[in-house]
Amino acid sequence: MRRVSIFGATGSIGQNTIDLIARAPDAYDVVALTGAGNIAQLADDARRLGADIAITARDDRLEDLRDALKGSGIAAAAGADAIREAATRPADWIMSAIVGAAGLAPGIEALKQGATLALANKESLVCAGKLMLETARTHGAAILPVDSEHSAVFQALIGEDMAAVERIIITASGGAFRDWPLEDLAEATLEQASNHPNWDMGQRITIDSASMFNKAMEVIETREFFGVYPKQIEVLVHPQSMIHALVGFNDGALMAHIGPPDMRHAIGYALHHPHRKPLPVERLDLAKIGSFEFRAPDEARWPALRLARDVMERGGMAGAVFNAAKEIALDGFIAGQLRFPQMAQVVEDTLEQLNADAGLIDVTMTLDNVAHVDHLARQTAKAVSKKRAG
Ligand code: NAD
Ligand code: MG
Repeated sequence: MRRVSIFGATGSIGQNTIDLIARAPDAYDVVALTGAGNIAQLADDARRLGADIAITARDDRLEDLRDALKGSGIAAAAGADAIREAATRPADWIMSAIVGAAGLAPGIEALKQGATLALANKESLVCAGKLMLETARTHGAAILPVDSEHSAVFQALIGEDMAAVERIIITASGGAFRDWPLEDLAEATLEQASNHPNWDMGQRITIDSASMFNKAMEVIETREFFGVYPKQIEVLVHPQSMIHALVGFNDGALMAHIGPPDMRHAIGYALHHPHRKPLPVERLDLAKIGSFEFRAPDEARWPALRLARDVMERGGMAGAVFNAAKEIALDGFIAGQLRFPQMAQVVEDTLEQLNADAGLIDVTMTLDNVAHVDHLARQTAKAVSKKRAG
């Protein structure tokens, strides 16, 4: 039996992971499940999967969780430290699907115990790519990408020599506002931004898809994970979201990964790696689909892509600043304090202010330093947001 833990079990990725694991109950021994406010879901899944422990991020919900688990023999805990501690519980395979920078510390603990880390939490590589990869190397742990684009690149690279790779192309649907007149973006509502044309995902990543902050994060992740130069990474708008990525080789060949927009593919690939096993995803009928479209991304519409390039050029802790500022800007948009295009402005202003402080950006990358930079960037982004909103 493989021991598995799922961090962010109640979210979109977490629930898709549980869907796969619950189909083969005899194959998995579930160690820890974590969530936040959705206590009923967390407790139901912990009971159904026979987990050892369930943890909520919310200290104020511990009693509710205890009540919901009464009589099950499943332990309950709460808070960020408890989540981090749960990642030290021995497991063979750990899903990192918490949303936001909160996913970083448990991911590092999982790597320290030498587990295979299925990495959906994109903030980990954006904020602390070097630290993640170094920790994995030191402790003999594997990181398997769970984002559809990175899983696609990973699969297209099997058996290939990295020296022959010229470029990596990750696709983007273009999100909710792909075809909107540019001047209308300032009036975009939360509801409009929270509707993805192709994927069913958590609210934050859905809004990030409309602004392409999601793609900007993925570009940075691609650089960190595959070790290519920024100029080798391209973004291609592909409205159908069926080609997830392409790898271009030095003989002109492009290896594309095509599949339905269903995260259970990337999750299942990471779950069964290095083998392929049948997955309950749609089989594409390409004749019926008929055609695929491609467009160059417009940086006036999606300034986040330009900011990603700045971050990669700057290096150091710029990724942590970028992510923290993006999280605050997104909070501001969700709360109705910022207009849609103002999110990118807040991130750009924050980067500008903190990039000037080389002592901050170029400190050694440790978990503590990342947390420190994250904190400062959030403060700055909040101040900048206030100014932009006012
Ligand atoms: P989601 O919002 O649906 O779920 C997030 C999970 O994290 C929930 O279990 C929630 O309880 C938990 N959580 C929230 N705040 C927390 C905190 N402060 N501390 C601990 N736990 C907390 O998000 P999602 O769409 O499943 O995305 C999860 C991660 O995977 C994100 O980093 C996202 O960018 C990435 N990702 C998601 C998709 C997708 O299709 N949904 C695809 C690729 C990558
Ligand atoms: Mg993706």
